[in-house]
Amino acid sequence: MVSDAAKLSIFFFPFVGGGHLIPMIDLARLFSTHGVKSTILAIPNGAAVFHNSINRDRTLGLDIHLHTLQLPSALPDQPPHAVTAADMSASPFTDTSVLQQPLVDILRRCRPDCVVTDTFHRWAADAVDGVGIPGVIFNGNCCFARCCEDSVTRDWPHEKVGSDSEPFALEGLPDRIELTRSQLPVFVRTRTEFPGKSMRAEHNSFGQVVNSFYELEPAYVEYYRNQMGKKAWLIGPVSLCNRNVADKAERGQKAAIDEHSCLNWLNSKKPNSVLFVSFGSLARMHPTQLIELAHGLEASNCFFIWAVGKILESENGENWLPDGFEQRMIESNRGLIIKGWAPQLLILEHVAVGGFMTHCGWNSTLESVCAGVKMITWPLSAEQFYNEKLVTDVLKIGVRVGSVEWASWNMERKMVVGRDKVEAAVKKLMGGSVEAEMMTRRAKELAEKAKSAVEEGGSSWNDVEALIGELKSCWKQK
Ligand code: UDP
Repeated sequence: MVSDAAKLSIFFFPFVGGGHLIPMIDLARLFSTHGVKSTILAIPNGAAVFHNSINRDRTLGLDIHLHTLQLPSALPDQPPHAVTAADMSASPFTDTSVLQQPLVDILRRCRPDCVVTDTFHRWAADAVDGVGIPGVIFNGNCCFARCCEDSVTRDWPHEKVGSDSEPFALEGLPDRIELTRSQLPVFVRTRTEFPGKSMRAEHNSFGQVVNSFYELEPAYVEYYRNQMGKKAWLIGPVSLCNRNVADKAERGQKAAIDEHSCLNWLNSKKPNSVLFVSFGSLARMHPTQLIELAHGLEASNCFFIWAVGKILESENGENWLPDGFEQRMIESNRGLIIKGWAPQLLILEHVAVGGFMTHCGWNSTLESVCAGVKMITWPLSAEQFYNEKLVTDVLKIGVRVGSVEWASWNMERKMVVGRDKVEAAVKKLMGGSVEAEMMTRRAKELAEKAKSAVEEGGSSWNDVEALIGELKSCWKQK
């Protein structure tokens, strides 16, 4: 046990949406296993879902706490996207600035040694800086994606090609990475700054924590640190701190299926025979696309669990699945359809799961790596097209479905990925070819490396210790 006098106190201020909230909670839990007093600053109604795992950690003797920031009672004219509660599918543009005063108040009162803020609280790093406490930034993606974005926004190669579909190479990176203009975020294509991004905050911060591990992307970690000059600690994969079934089953929010039904279904299948299909917490697919996906899955003859998330407005209401599809899948025991939140970690780690059709959100990608599961990549927005390149071209643990159009998470796409492409990708990944076996082998090797990284003496373990050491050295300067 570390004595209180020698203990660092770190506050963690997660963003409200699933893809950012979930890893930050894990991050706080991870630091508490290193002897830090971790306090998670939650917004009203946002903490309840994590209570159970935090309480379990506390019964194990970890020094971890939740503090709920109180919203001011009179909320003057709030912008339309202002935050009022945590929501797994909250937009990255949710305005959280109403929390600024409550944050500053608690920092002045408690004066922790460090505050880790999510980059989507666009105002928060400056606020932490203003109080004179070291701030560390968490922005939720990997070094590879940041190197790609740096290269694109330095050379603007997409402006030198003749069409949206003509490939171009990214200059200066350790591997040859090709993209098309249609795969780039709209704000990159139009040379506009990502809305509200605070460069000053990043500049003034103590550094950044990255949810990745050195052995996954060594050349890009070096590039990020040395070419781009970023001070980064690679401390992941943070999801590996979920060690028991209960933590894995209720991560983020309560699942729409009970864990026993899900595990029973998986237990009835052979190892590596099931494809898990999910597009994260935020993305909304159009019914036209979902119908193609359903037909492709059915034609592939593969077992699958499909977590159907949010759906874009449909004139047909709920009747967007092909006629009789659901019934056929139940009768043949071929597919399990989860309408709503799935216990993703639990599913991915099951021995029956051999593939993951994913939108390449960074958490999902890394969770798949940790589980040793190869992927079908179906990027949609954010930095997901970069992540696809890491999975397919660098790590070689996935096949592309053929998604080529970047669009915002809530926009209808012009291009639909047809059922033939879905069927072909599923057969390629799950059909037992030598190429697919090689992908499985590589994925399993990476999973072992991920586990070693977070064990005592591993690269991520050492980076957590290094950050703790640097923060403690600030004590001496006080
Ligand atoms: N997730 C989950 N169940 C779901 C959907 C998502 O547990 O039904 C979790 C998933 O395990 C991951 C996070 O939500 O930790 C999604 O993050 P990611 O970066 O993959 O995508 P985003 O939701 O940010 O697009």
